Amino acid sequence: MEHLSCKFLVIGAGPGGYVAAIRAGQLGIDTIIVDAGKLGGTCLNVGCIPSKALIHAADAFEEATRFASQNALGISAQAPNIDLGATVAWKDGVVKKLTTGVRGLLKKAKVRIVQGRAHFVDGKTVRVSNENGDLAEIKAGAICIATGSEPTPLANLPFGDDVLSSTEALSLPDIPNSLAVIGAGYIGLELGMAYAKLGANVTILEMADRVLPLYDAELTKPVADRLNALGIELQLVTKATGHADGQLRAETEDGGKTEFRADKILVTVGRAPVTDGWGRENLVLGMDGPFLKIDNQCRTEMTGIYAIGDVTGEPMLAHRAMAQGEMVAEIIAGEKRSWDKRVIPAICFTDPEIVSAGLSPEAAIADGHDIISAKFPLAANGRSLSVERTDGFVRIVARKDNHLILGVQAVGKGCAELSASFGLAIEMGARLEDIAATIHAHPTQGEALQESALLALGHALHI
Ligand code: FAD
Repeated sequence: MEHLSCKFLVIGAGPGGYVAAIRAGQLGIDTIIVDAGKLGGTCLNVGCIPSKALIHAADAFEEATRFASQNALGISAQAPNIDLGATVAWKDGVVKKLTTGVRGLLKKAKVRIVQGRAHFVDGKTVRVSNENGDLAEIKAGAICIATGSEPTPLANLPFGDDVLSSTEALSLPDIPNSLAVIGAGYIGLELGMAYAKLGANVTILEMADRVLPLYDAELTKPVADRLNALGIELQLVTKATGHADGQLRAETEDGGKTEFRADKILVTVGRAPVTDGWGRENLVLGMDGPFLKIDNQCRTEMTGIYAIGDVTGEPMLAHRAMAQGEMVAEIIAGEKRSWDKRVIPAICFTDPEIVSAGLSPEAAIADGHDIISAKFPLAANGRSLSVERTDGFVRIVARKDNHLILGVQAVGKGCAELSASFGLAIEMGARLEDIAATIHAHPTQGEALQESALLALGHALHI
């Protein structure tokens, strides 16, 4: 067994951990990163990137199918075929490019990479092992826990041959004839919609009374309409109870029993932080519900031990993990940093996409704000019309007294890219007048943001 030492040790090479390690390396800190799996963690290997690649392929296939069946836009085409194995291989290529890039960036920052499972011996010592035994013992001045999260199983539908987590659903060899998705959160909807576009008969079961229950009903309505248009069967207030012989059993609100054909079942009921399996019992760390407790510098309750990313709480998003990772590295380097972000934008890459930054009107009112809010429909946006997708809107929420922007949300095909300007507006403390007075290029969806600010000020131009 090797004996190593470093100033900074990072456990987990997902977006939180690898960013912490790269930034630390850039700052000249002697850093080691350990991962039991692949560099890039959930996000690059089995999360953000592969899911968006699959969604892109599904969109392309759906478009080709439309040209074959409808002669839309004056384009006619033959019915397309898809070889899902080849699509998955292409997706794996995208992942490989990015994970190889992460390895290169770590090397450039002179970060040492250790492959294996980390286990705390004490607050300064971590043992790394694999199936063949112990590989290394690492002594570190400071340690950052970035062990991420994993899919939550259902007791009556354990992951197995036909019951998939998002990980397996991203690498299926064939398109299932019928797919039941349990849980209408963003991961279930993104993948369910993609498989429906690829030709599977998709049923989505959700215990709540609408899809994406964490977003407000106005924002999710265009997505629910699109699910319907794609022929996806939506069973709300319905609980999956078991699976046998290609049939999924479920129970409705009134206790009624029902069954659905399901060759494959995708369980996307949530993700759980990885707080065990790495020796937490040898430390004294506080908990915040199921998550590791941290302060506004990502410090745990033990001196010298930090935690970042999904293991520390909601929102479990890659860009939160990365921002925390960067901050922790700078703190270790002696910089004065603390969590001062005003907003963490969230996106559902559904069809249409949903972007939410800051407070919704309901949340702002609940927080005690007197607000003005305006919603500009994409039906009045030239760009949306020219790309045939006018379902959706941009909505802005501001304080009534000084017009400070509290939140911006949008739903619309392709509106994910608007998240940058939404986040920037809130982070910079923009007021409605700032957005209204900024020239937004024509024709873009961004004009709908400007128009929403104008609308809130009472003088929209294009509606
Ligand atoms: P992870 O990325 O989970 O990485 C943790 C790493 O720690 C893993 O590599 C693991 O092997 C390693 N590890 C754990 N325990 C040990 C140990 N004992 N020793 C060594 N290594 C260990 N987020 C977005 O922002 N946008 C999206 O579009 C998006 N889409 C998603 C789609 C899907 C299908 C899924 C599943 C997730 C998606 N997410 C998305 C969420 C995103 O992937 C996570 O928020 C992000 O990966 C969290 O980063 P992390 O660094 O905290 O942990």
